[in-house]
Amino acid sequence: MGNLKKNQTPAYPRNYEIWYTYAAGFNRGLNKAINDILRAKGKISTQELDTIYNEHLSPSRLSDRVDEVGSEISRELRSIVREVEDYVSTASSYGDSLVGASQDLSNTEDRQVIREIVAQLISETKEVESQNRALSEQLAASQEQVLELRESLDTIRYESLTDDLTTLANRKHFDRSLENALEEAAESGEPLCLLMTDIDHFKKFNDTFGHQTGDQVLRLVAVSVKQNVKGQDVPCRYGGEEFGVILPRTNLRQAVAVAESIRKAVMAKELIKRSTGENLGRITISIGASTFKPGDTPQSLIERADQCLYAAKRGGRNIVKAETDPGILQENSDVA
Ligand code: GH3
Ligand code: MG
Ligand code: MG
Repeated sequence: MGNLKKNQTPAYPRNYEIWYTYAAGFNRGLNKAINDILRAKGKISTQELDTIYNEHLSPSRLSDRVDEVGSEISRELRSIVREVEDYVSTASSYGDSLVGASQDLSNTEDRQVIREIVAQLISETKEVESQNRALSEQLAASQEQVLELRESLDTIRYESLTDDLTTLANRKHFDRSLENALEEAAESGEPLCLLMTDIDHFKKFNDTFGHQTGDQVLRLVAVSVKQNVKGQDVPCRYGGEEFGVILPRTNLRQAVAVAESIRKAVMAKELIKRSTGENLGRITISIGASTFKPGDTPQSLIERADQCLYAAKRGGRNIVKAETDPGILQENSDVA
């Protein structure tokens, strides 16, 4: 609110979003862009905020890039079609020349005329040859261009499913993967588990050491999660300081073992601030584990994992709770 006032920013929802994101501090690109301007001029204009919004917040920025790649592909295709059309018309006029020459040749025995016709044919053949070469060079260049565009699309796709801060899968990826995992489990009858993790007393950590340091810790927790799961498992940043881990073909006992190894890996790390050498102590996480039952939806599976997570918090934190542990789901059904 202070920044809105100080910079005389009109109170539109979009501007609230910008300054809210700035205050929260998790969009590093946005903070850097704003800080650069504030450092240079002391104040930021509405226009500059608009540009920053489009570059760092606008939900359309990925789709803009997809549009760009799309139009480049269309341009490339149009140019290929044009080249091929040119080539076809050259080839067809060459065909006509051959027919004409063949008729002329059958009508004459004059050596001079024959020599002229052959010379003409040689020159036209060379012309076609050179067009031929140009076309295949153009096609090779286009093929390379299309491969590059495909790589751009792969990058965009990767970015759209990845969380910037932790490089884990983002919420969108999580939602899709969970839906697929549920379908697969329902079809195959194989077990499926879900872990929901939440950092303990993280607000206090941020308040004590700052949001930037908090972000570094989030990265560290993400690494601990990643290092303790295998290829088929999908570790995701579910939101803020919460991670979700989808464990296909894994029963609840195995899932709890994975959760325990993540929990231990996190608490084993002594946090040292690189810049100052300051020891920040340790952090812990709590984890809830649910397992797929016939009729489950992504929501119901997440809900049960969340209930276990809250039970872990109530139980004193830095623990793993599974939905079969005594007293967890019953407590909630009492409430219902
Ligand atoms: P609890 O043990 O009950 O989980 O306590 P808590 O303080 O961790 O409570 P809660 O999970 O509700 O707190 C979420 C806090 O996490 C709020 C905010 O300070 C912090 N947080 C959320 N997202 C981010 C982020 O992207 N970066 C940083 N640095 N902190 C975040
Ligand atoms: Mg939380
Ligand atoms: Mg927390």
